[in-house]
Order: sequence, then C-alpha cells, then structure tokens
Amino acid sequence: MFEETIEFIKSAYPEKKFIALHEPVFMGNEKKYLNECIDSTFVSSVGKFVDQFEEMVAEYTGAKYAIATVNGTAALHIALLLVGVEEGDEVITQPLTFIATCNAISYCNAKPVFIDVDRDTMGLSPAALEEFLQQNTGIKNNQCVNKVTGKIIKACVPMHTFGHPCKIDEIKDICDKYFITLVEDAAESLGSYYKGKHTGVFGKISVLSFNGNKTITTGGGGMLITNDEKLAKQAKHITTTAKVPHSFEYNHDIIGYNYRLPNLNAALGCAQMESLNAILKNKRELAKNYINFFYKHNIDFFTEQKETTVNYWLNAVILKDSQERNTFLKETNDMSVMTRPIWVLMSKIKMFEDCQSGDLSNSLWLENRVVNIPSGVTS
Ligand SMILES: *Cc1c(COP(=O)(O)O)cnc(C)c1O
Repeated sequence: MFEETIEFIKSAYPEKKFIALHEPVFMGNEKKYLNECIDSTFVSSVGKFVDQFEEMVAEYTGAKYAIATVNGTAALHIALLLVGVEEGDEVITQPLTFIATCNAISYCNAKPVFIDVDRDTMGLSPAALEEFLQQNTGIKNNQCVNKVTGKIIKACVPMHTFGHPCKIDEIKDICDKYFITLVEDAAESLGSYYKGKHTGVFGKISVLSFNGNKTITTGGGGMLITNDEKLAKQAKHITTTAKVPHSFEYNHDIIGYNYRLPNLNAALGCAQMESLNAILKNKRELAKNYINFFYKHNIDFFTEQKETTVNYWLNAVILKDSQERNTFLKETNDMSVMTRPIWVLMSKIKMFEDCQSGDLSNSLWLENRVVNIPSGVTS
C-alpha cells in the first residue's frame, strides 16, 4: 500500500541500507574541540567550553541567560523547582509528550494535570487550557486552586512537539491571568520560532535538550534559558552542588544537584552550534521534499503553521485511522525504513493514570494516527 512512500524515502537516503529515524551529524570542529578539551585536562565540570556553549545558546535563542545541564530532564527538574513547584502541587502539561516532562514533575513530588493539544500544532491547546481553568479552578491569595483536588496549580509546561511551536503567546496570557508560571519544554525546538521569537523565551524559564537524537547533540546534555537574572544565578548554583564561592573551602547553603554539563560534552556542543544553521537548512530542504511528495500522494504531512518557523526536527505524517497507521508502520519497518508511532499518551502511563485530565479528544485522535518518519540530514 505504501510502496511509493518507501521508495521515496529510500531515494532521499541513497547510501543507506537501514534508514534510522534520526542520526547526529558531526561535520565541523567536533574532533578538534574534543581534542583541545582533552589536552587541557579540563574534561569535567568546569572549563571554557561550558561558558562558551552557554553564551552561544543564549545568543542564538535571544535569552539573556543560559545554564548548561547534564541533560534536558535535569533542566526540567530544576526549572520546576525554581518556579516554586513543591510537594503536593499540580503542574499542567499535555498528555502528548515524552515521559521526561512528567518525570520531572514527579521529581518535585508534584502531579501532572493533563490538558488537550490542538490538532494543528500537536501542542497544548490554549482553548482547552482556558476552558479547564474556568471550570475547575478559583483564585485564592494570588494562587490558582484546583477546586476538584484542592491543590495549587503552580506551573504550566507546554511542549513544542517535534519542533512545531504551540500557540505560546495565548498560553502565556492565560497563565498570567490565572497566576500560573509558564515553563516551556523546548527540548525538541532548538531553531524553531513563534512570531519571530525563539521558542523557550516566552516562559519564565525554559528547557532545551541536546540528547543524541535531537537537532544537535552533546552526547547527553540540556540547557535552561531565562531572561530572569535571579533565576539564572539560582539555576547555576543549584545545578553545581550549591557550593558557596570560596577559593578553598567547601561549604554549601542548600541541597544542590550535580547536574552540571561536563566540559567534554560542552566542547561537542560548541562545534554543533557552529553547524546548527547548516543542519536546519538541510532539514527544511528534506521537509520541503516530503511536503511535495505527500501532497501528491494525498497523505497528511505535519507542516508549519502561520507565523511560525519549524526546525523540522522530527517529521511526521498523520494517517487516516489506526488501521492505516499500523499498515504504514509494518510496511516501512519491514523494508528497513524506520518509522515510529507517536508516544503513548501520558494519561495512559501507569504512574500517571490517576492524574486529572481535561477532555483529551485531540490527543487521542492524534495518538492513533501520527507516525514519525526518517528525519536525519547531513550538514
Ligand atoms: C528529549 C526531551 C526531553 C529531555 O530529554 P533528555 O534526554 O533528558 O535530554 C524533555 N522533553 C521532551 C519533550 C523531549 O523530547
């Protein structure tokens, strides 16, 4: 049924026997900087590459501050702690996300509340958010109280699915109105813009990931970005064991975390940042070819909305129903073209199935239909 699609994808990767969903590209100064880092002996938690990588990401995203972390999940954990998420609190997020979002909420001993996504962005729906808050919450002492559970909704974590920005300005306005702090999970959206601003700069503090499967990688790594100087200082402090600055004494003033990004990983990050624009250009080119192909073959390909620029990190098709999706998955994988269904909804994962949810019709609809297709490029 999908022979032509398989042929087309194979033609986009002529040199490959097995086509992976995504692969990192190392075409620039990666080896040079890694060697430099090893020669310096500063391979661990301090070194010039960490500072340089943070500066490069701050400049690229337009955030005032960037704080490197050991991975994106750790960055999410710290972001939530710093905006005051505490034991017993609730955090709104979308059920259509990677498990890391909900794990980080759990590390704070808080609970996720699941609100539906929009079909056109696959990200948190401002309309669903507003409706849920209107029907289920009240404001008390400048806090949003969930009338169903009696808990405080402290934060909201929308996610820019596969690099497609959600309607983040509308979400921000609603959060402001309800005294809920906005934290963006921009782990997938480095290089994606909403109304001319980089994703991640709308939230009080936001998170990027440099895991091996992301647009660029540090092996493992993450970044907190914020415009808030105080939060940035706290973020650096708490992710580096909360050591009180002193030339030889070891003293610590709060329970800190060893969530630093090693200099070795940051060296890789500096080289990858230099290649980012070239990688993004090639990803757009691949997406353009996909758009043309799928348009002709009457298959729904997930494309950019108005006023957004998408990094096309992970391409996706939306099939007609779960049966067609299953056929697509089987035929492609049988032919060594790796494809994968979208995540199982977080609201169905055992640890989160007792969490409160709004109406999740769009998430359920997408869960049955969305498949990721090969998205790797060379630089
Ligand atoms: C990749 C990712 C993260 C962070 O993952 P790490 O592997 O810890 O860097 C968080 N949220 C989403 C949605 C992701 O895709």
